[in-house]
This record gives sequence, C-alpha cells and structure tokens, in this order.
Amino acid sequence: MIKPKIVAIDDEVGFIDMLSNYFSIRGYDINVSVRGVNGIEMIKQKNPDVVLCDLKMPGIDGDEVLRLTKSMQNSPKLIFITAYDDGGKTKDRLLKLGAYAYFDKPIASLKALEDIINKAVNDN
Ligand SMILES: [Mg+2]
Repeated sequence: MIKPKIVAIDDEVGFIDMLSNYFSIRGYDINVSVRGVNGIEMIKQKNPDVVLCDLKMPGIDGDEVLRLTKSMQNSPKLIFITAYDDGGKTKDRLLKLGAYAYFDKPIASLKALEDIINKAVNDN
C-alpha cells in the first residue's frame, strides 16, 4: 500500500519534529516546514496528498494556506492542528471553507490523526 504524501507546517519546532518522527518511522513521505511561506513552496513542489497545518503562525497563516490549497488543481486535503480555541467558531468557518478536518492541539491521539489522513486520501 502506498502511504500518503504529507506536508506539515507549524511554527512550533518541537511539534513539527514530533509529527515528522511519527510519520516517517511509519513509512510516510513527510516534509515539514516551520514557516508558512516555505510551507507553501513545499506544497507546490511536493504535491502532497495531505497538508497538516497550524492556524496561527507569523507571516503566512493557516487561512492563507487553505486559500492556496483550494486554488490548486489537485488540491491536497488540509487538516488543521491548532491550540486556537474560540468555542468552535473558527473550526466551523474553516470546515465550511473546505478544510478536511480540524484537530485540537495537543493532539490526543496521533493514531486518530493517522487514520484521518488515510481516510482523506480515499475521499474525493
Ligand atoms: Mg502556531
């Protein structure tokens, strides 16, 4: 089985390292960026199946990453992972704009995230 190709963008180095370790150990092709601007370049170059993205980042934030992925011909599925909490308002807004899923940080279960990633690549 071919594992999904992932790009992960988050300005928190420890968190991005943790994601990178978890998914690379399990055989996923994962590329990570701590800067939104580099992350967008990475998405264009790597053409990932799934993008994992923080919401609040300096410079280019999660909203802009969502806009970019939605404008692409082969849009990767965008999964937000964020500690930002406004009672679900932002979550609802992003899902309406086309985000595939929204996870609260810290992540309660990396296995649950992995399952959603695998589900995302099989959804159209
Ligand atoms: Mg952040």
